[in-house]
Amino acid sequence: NSENIKKVLDIVFNTSKNNKVAVVVSAFGKTTDKLFAGANEALEDITAAKAILETIKELHHQVIDDLIFVNKKEVREETAALFNRLNSIYEGVFLLQELSDKTLAKVYSFGERLSSYIIANAAKELFDTTHQESRDLISTNNEYLNAQVNFKITNKNITSFFDKNKHQVTVLGGFISSNTDSETTTLGRGGSDFSASIYAAALNADELQIWTDVSGMFTSNPSVVKQAYPISEISYEEAMELSHFGAKVLYPPTIQPSLRKEIPIRIKNTFHPKSDGTLIC
Ligand code: ASP
Ligand code: MG
Repeated sequence: NSENIKKVLDIVFNTSKNNKVAVVVSAFGKTTDKLFAGANEALEDITAAKAILETIKELHHQVIDDLIFVNKKEVREETAALFNRLNSIYEGVFLLQELSDKTLAKVYSFGERLSSYIIANAAKELFDTTHQESRDLISTNNEYLNAQVNFKITNKNITSFFDKNKHQVTVLGGFISSNTDSETTTLGRGGSDFSASIYAAALNADELQIWTDVSGMFTSNPSVVKQAYPISEISYEEAMELSHFGAKVLYPPTIQPSLRKEIPIRIKNTFHPKSDGTLIC
């Protein structure tokens, strides 16, 4: 919501004073789940699908109203065009009675396309920011919902874009990518962390920071074990094991790209930015 996005903008602003920053964002709230629910409803009941679409619209319009002033009209128009396209896709699913992985990947992509565009525009009103489409940079195979990244093409795309990009802050959508036919693909649910690690590695970033809603990786699941406490420093190998065994704080494939370049990963809590969090190195 708007209040939490403001916290994110504060964090980005503070970091960007002395560093160029690439900001990788996920979809707002439960948008990805709603996009999926809408697509499934569209198979049977287009009215129900459109009702879900309305709730997605409402959330995004609220954020635009709260955080964008100078470019409100333009941002409203651009997002209206995105919502119209999504509406047409839902109608297509209804008419064809078919929801393929390829179509679902396209549906999913709207979450990060909207969030990255809106957050970039909110940031633009406060500091030097540009928006960049991730689907033009991250190149994958044809497994639409769990696409494998072609690192050779992707790294080249990322470095050539950022070599020319002079803006202090660049906002990109996580999770979304495209295949060599320019069709939309996605990196698996929870994949925004992985996108961020891909960018960090390609750019030889000083650090990859994952801003989430808990204060780092815990010794065990804090909702089950009362004595669980955040780990201040952990090795890549141990962090990988923890995430594979169910530490939801980090999408397991995230560590690989950063590990290869020995880029430290810091997990931080958006709601307690002063807590140390966890450093994976
Ligand atoms: N929005 C996507 C999802 O919900 C990606 C992510 O959140 O990392 O799976
Ligand atoms: Mg998410």
